[in-house]
Amino acid sequence: MNDIFSFGDELGPLKIIHVQEPAIGLKGILVVDNVAKGPSIGGVRMAADVTVEECARLARAMTFKNAAAGLPYGGGKAVLMGDPKMPKHEKQILIRGFANALKEVEQYIFAPDMGTDEECMAWVKDEIGRVVGLPREVGGIPLDEIGATGWGLSHVVDVALEFCDFNIEGTRFAVQGFGAVGKNVSKFLSQDGAIAVAVSDSTGTVYNPDGLDIKKLIALKAEGKSVTDYPDGEKRDAGAIIDIECDIWIPAARPDVIHEDNVHRLNTKMVVEGANIPVTQGAEKILHDKGILCVPDFIANAGGVICAAMEYQGASQSAAFATIEEKLRRNTREVLQTAKQEKILPREASLNMARKRIDRAMSFRRWNLF
Ligand code: NAD
Repeated sequence: MNDIFSFGDELGPLKIIHVQEPAIGLKGILVVDNVAKGPSIGGVRMAADVTVEECARLARAMTFKNAAAGLPYGGGKAVLMGDPKMPKHEKQILIRGFANALKEVEQYIFAPDMGTDEECMAWVKDEIGRVVGLPREVGGIPLDEIGATGWGLSHVVDVALEFCDFNIEGTRFAVQGFGAVGKNVSKFLSQDGAIAVAVSDSTGTVYNPDGLDIKKLIALKAEGKSVTDYPDGEKRDAGAIIDIECDIWIPAARPDVIHEDNVHRLNTKMVVEGANIPVTQGAEKILHDKGILCVPDFIANAGGVICAAMEYQGASQSAAFATIEEKLRRNTREVLQTAKQEKILPREASLNMARKRIDRAMSFRRWNLF
């Protein structure tokens, strides 16, 4: 038990709940980090090996992301132990069991994350109703299909360019991870006049200094192929995306891909974090010292959670897009202006902004009376 209480601070976690149902092999954890701004929203991650500590870190990240996005929701995260690629009927039993076990925990709203998708969320809705990230047929706004996070990232780039000496027309960008986030940010930036010079997926990188055709690449991926099957480009290994010379580098794959040992390989002017925690804190500091603008993950990639929150409130897809645009443009400008004026890292400015919003919400809580 000591372990469970060995982390935490004045923000949370509020609750850590372990769920076990041996009859169906169910093992899971819910961390509700902070609910001062409202019930917590955070995804259900399905993986074979996620610890309580990791779940708590992810829940805290959601507290900051939701607060920074100005949403009336707190932060939480759930993990379900198991192989996400297990047979569908077995997965369905686990997801339904997990939802039922947490039925009474109204401070947590289920959402999709790595290893779970909108179909899983439809099962949760069928069991308990308290969920976002649903298929369109049951009231959802399919955020990956419409590219909510990529849309947000394209606006973040547009505002961040106000702090640089180049503009979007002809700007060369590279994207690590050509999945839901990577494909869509590439599509929106290309529509704005930027040129994709390299994209990668887990099997490799494709590079063409004259530009890649994003529509063709998206069509290739839809056929289940790799970006390296694209004919008009040079093929390199997956790690080579880091060395590509470009103006904007966008990580949209895994955590911690840029760290102190490889950050010097980046040959870019701006990093916009599409993935969650793709750049270590030490590497962000090095980028800052080199004058490379880096927009932190929880500011830049909040489009998805804003879309999910709006879905929960019954908003339309077009209203969600308009809100993502408005919130992310305002936040990016505020954070980058503060960072410039106070000579601090954009991450520090972002954390200060989110923290102020959480502290204000916490000042309204009952326990402040004592
Ligand atoms: P996804 O599974 O659709 O795509 C991930 C892509 O990364 C795939 O193309 C995969 O092949 C590629 N990839 C994996 N390992 C790689 C490697 N070593 N090198 C290059 N590419 C690699 O996932 P997604 O929904 O696009 O999410 C990507 C990241 O963004 C994750 O960190 C996720 O947590 C974060 N994120 C997603 C959303 C969203 O709306 N989907 C919102 C916020 C943050």
